[in-house]
Amino acid sequence: MTESTENTASKSFIHEIVEEDNQTGKFEKRVHTRFPPEPNGYLHIGHAKSICLNFGLAQDFGGKTNLRFDDTNPLTEDPEYVDSIKEDVRWLGFEWEGNERYASDYFDQLYEYATDMIKQGKAYVDDLSQEEMRKYRGTLTEPGKDSPHRNRSVEENLDLFERMKNGEFDEGSRVLRVKIDMAAPNMNLRDPVMYRIIKAAHHRTGDKWNIYPTYDWAHGQSDSIEGITHSICTLEFENNRPLYEWYLHNLEIFHSQQIEFARLNLTHTIMSKRKLLKLVEEGVVDGWDDPRMPTLSGLRRRGVTPEAIRNFCDVIGVAKTNSVIDYALFEHTIREDLDARSPRAMAVLKPLKLVIDNFPNDQVEEFEVDYYRHDKERSLTRKVPFSREVYIEQSDFMEEPPPKYFRLSPGREVRLMNACLVTCTDVVKNENGDVVEVHATYDPDSLGGQAPDGRRVKGTLHWVSAAHAVDAEVRLYNHLFDRENPDDTEEGEDFLSAINSNSLEIISDAKVEPALLNDRPDERFQFVRSGYFYVDRENSEDEKLVFNRVVSLRDSWAKQQKRQ
Ligand code: ATP
Ligand code: MG
Repeated sequence: MTESTENTASKSFIHEIVEEDNQTGKFEKRVHTRFPPEPNGYLHIGHAKSICLNFGLAQDFGGKTNLRFDDTNPLTEDPEYVDSIKEDVRWLGFEWEGNERYASDYFDQLYEYATDMIKQGKAYVDDLSQEEMRKYRGTLTEPGKDSPHRNRSVEENLDLFERMKNGEFDEGSRVLRVKIDMAAPNMNLRDPVMYRIIKAAHHRTGDKWNIYPTYDWAHGQSDSIEGITHSICTLEFENNRPLYEWYLHNLEIFHSQQIEFARLNLTHTIMSKRKLLKLVEEGVVDGWDDPRMPTLSGLRRRGVTPEAIRNFCDVIGVAKTNSVIDYALFEHTIREDLDARSPRAMAVLKPLKLVIDNFPNDQVEEFEVDYYRHDKERSLTRKVPFSREVYIEQSDFMEEPPPKYFRLSPGREVRLMNACLVTCTDVVKNENGDVVEVHATYDPDSLGGQAPDGRRVKGTLHWVSAAHAVDAEVRLYNHLFDRENPDDTEEGEDFLSAINSNSLEIISDAKVEPALLNDRPDERFQFVRSGYFYVDRENSEDEKLVFNRVVSLRDSWAKQQKRQ
């Protein structure tokens, strides 16, 4: 383990806050968190950080966690997203308290709260256009101006608000605003909007409503209604906290404690759902669960385990300042997880035929090889057939090898892993002069892979018997974005300009050992020298397997750490 992975920050500053609240009895020692996604897209690795934090905190303190959909905007939300979010949270290994909740469950209550605010003289219907409202709002350095409609009577406001609800007015013609202070230094307190007119059907409330609460009006009250003790959100909401507290205070309802933490950012990755949706809609990727997507469904399809994601969230910890995590650290965590659990097997990604001329034509040797030879605690063997013709990697042969090349070349002896020693005798070339077949002889006394006289053989090659090989398609993935920060764009460009055109390489004629076809001990393998792979069952056929490479073997994170 490298230094940084030992530093598991399971005790975050948020733990300390909760501990203190328990000591002072602030919430009668209750710990009730929630994970509040808006169902307008699939969950991504950033959400996983929030999920692990919210559910983890409740687990650590014997508390509860709600899953609440913040479904206040009918224009972007969809039941497909609701279903995927539930599936992903469960896949990550968490179960929420009772049924899932919805902000839309509280629309009636929120409407009542709003009416209450009007009656208190603390909310008013405004007729300014969006553009005018923006002008009246002022700037960070200049106070805003009161709207001419700010002093409407309670009766008029109640009447107009009810008629907004009943659909009497056009979209954009009126809003309900809270009356706080148009000169407040915190712009969020300059009479923000509570309700806007949206004449669209909602996925749960249908046509009942012509007005919808803003996120800011709905969020804190939803927390309050559910009795959430610690309402954890990302740093952008720090300046909204005074507004949320203002609402709770003036409504005189239960007061949750908001705590902000730094969102997860990863190099070569975007996390905005709006942008991820664009990738899907423009066909840049093959759906939300494309294995190149940072979505949980994409990572799942690629072969990443929920344990790896939870470990990653542990390793990065929870902080109060924004930072960008190196994608290599994420891969490092995935590799550590897969290294421990994955059986080893042989696959040749780019095959070159090797003919062993002195091996009898019809003879088949079977070697008993342990899938878990890396793991003393486990053992499971399979038979690996060996015959006169085998496939080796094209990169494992060079006709004119440079110095320090220890693999196969004319006259050179190497070991075929677990099988025998072979010496290259000849090559066959096509009309372009490319080597298309290599010939060799084997040492019959070396069967099993050991040199009979203990002579040193430097190179060891993996291989697959040609007659027994199973065809495989192998999909290798690279970063979806070339640039470390895809949003770091030149003028006139958007994040799509950072797309890596080589993010997917498909190898359609790979060869894997036959044991993987039917009696697979696992769905994930380490293929010697090429990485960790996951069987894509959906796309595999009876006679042909499809593998996704989850991650290569090259650990650039560990290397980086060593250099430092
Ligand atoms: P987007 O801007 O992509 O729509 P969002 O924050 O609006 O993201 P929500 O569905 O509202 O997405 O997020 C649900 C919860 O997940 C929120 O509490 C939010 O703070 C948290 N979350 C979202 N993105 C991240 C991230 N990158 N790191 C940590 N937490 C995140
Ligand atoms: Mg949001």
